[in-house]
Parts: sequence; structure tokens; C-alpha cells
Amino acid sequence: SITVGVLALQGGVIEHLNLLRKATAHISSASSPTSTPQPPNGTPEFTFAFTEVRTAPQLAQCDALIIPGGESTTMAIVARRLGLLDPLREFVKIQHKPVWGTCAGLVMLAEQAAATKQGGQELVGGLDVRVLRNRFGTQIQSFVAPLELPFLGEGAAPFRAVFIRAPVVEEVIAPAPVAGEGNGGEREGVEVLGVFRGEGGEGDVVAVRQGNVFGTSFHPELTDDVRIHVWWLGRVVEAARHGGLVVGNGV
Ligand code: GLN
Repeated sequence: SITVGVLALQGGVIEHLNLLRKATAHISSASSPTSTPQPPNGTPEFTFAFTEVRTAPQLAQCDALIIPGGESTTMAIVARRLGLLDPLREFVKIQHKPVWGTCAGLVMLAEQAAATKQGGQELVGGLDVRVLRNRFGTQIQSFVAPLELPFLGEGAAPFRAVFIRAPVVEEVIAPAPVAGEGNGGEREGVEVLGVFRGEGGEGDVVAVRQGNVFGTSFHPELTDDVRIHVWWLGRVVEAARHGGLVVGNGV
């Protein structure tokens, strides 16, 4: 079975576990063309186990990990104290296991973070981006908005995106190579998977993927929409099929 962990130092842990469990039902019914881990004979090829991660040995049991929303500075301090920061970096950047960060989790996965107020903080990294923390203001300026996410499939209904002190990707340091140019096995670039267009403005990058590292500014786990969890579990299955070996950063 595939073990998917949710980093449980702080933040929205239970919500992710609940939606992951809900998402598996959709995966076994093979409803999504992009995630079809079910072979023709009808027996699921993989089963999932979901678990909270607070220690390095627990992390080592995982094939994939979600870093939830919460407060990235707090999460980093706790991770440092528990001796988890370096194991997390190894998980993401050396083992290239699939990781998804939501909101504060996206901040943790960025190589660089800028804040509107706070100074530097420790990060896990893995995504060659600079995020701007708290892009849309404080807690009371939280909002929900429909977001087009083409990676969910052609004609997919907009996603109800929940933004809470959300970061945005303000700079992509290593863009994805243009198809056809060929990157000769070099590291993969960053793919922009979602742009939020508020009033005016050119739009903010709120979903990105680089190899096995995926990040969203918003909180799918605070909705009952399983589509992104289903999609991501599909990517996790894909990575497991390829023995978890995906050419990524520095390979
Ligand atoms: N503003 C928080 C941070 O920078 C993220 C908020 C959230 O995860 N909802 O870590």
C-alpha cells in the first residue's frame, strides 16, 4: 500500500486526512481520466494508508506527504526542534517523493519567501519560486473565490478557492522549459497550474508544480471538493509506479 503522510506539527491536519479518505472512493471508481490506478480486472492496484507525521521515523514510512496550512514560521521552528527539517529536505529534494503544500505548506516548499512584515525564516524548499507571504492581507481579509484550474480537466467547473492569509508565487526562478525545446534530462522547471485574477491586476500565481513538488496558495481541504486531492493522489500513484524516481532538482 502507499503511505501518505500529513505533517502534523501545526495547522489543518485533520481536514486533509478527511478529504484524502474521501478522495480514495473517487479513485477506486476511476472517475477521473487523469487518475486511473485501477487495472482492467477491477482490483485496485494500490491501497492507501494515511497517517500523521511528527517524527523522522514516521516520515521515513511515507511515500508522499502533505504539508498543511497554518503558520509557516511556527511550523519551521517546531520542525527544527523535532529534528525534522533536514529529513523533510531529504524527502523532497533528494528522494523526490511527492509532496503537496497548501498555503503555509506552499511557503515551506518555496526556495525563497518574502514577507510583508516578518523577516527571514527556515524553509524546506524544493520549488524554485519566491513566494510573497500574506499577499491578500490579514485573517479578516480571508475570502473565497471561484478559480479556474485547467489541470483538473477541460471544462472543469471552477474550484471554490479558500484564501486565508495566503501566499502567492511572486517569482518563478526556474520556469518550465517550453515543450519541444527539450531539457535533456536536466532539472524540471516550475509549471504554473493556477492563476487567480482578482479585481484589476495581472493575476497572482496560486498553484505550481515542479516535478513531484506541488503547491497551492489556497485550502482545498477546507471545502468538500475532492478534485485536487483525487488529482494529487493520481500523481502519487504515478510516482509509485515509476519507483518514486522522477528526475527533479539537481539530478
Ligand atoms: N500566512 C501564513 C504563512 O505565511 C499562511 C496562512 C495559511 O496557511 N492559511 O505561513
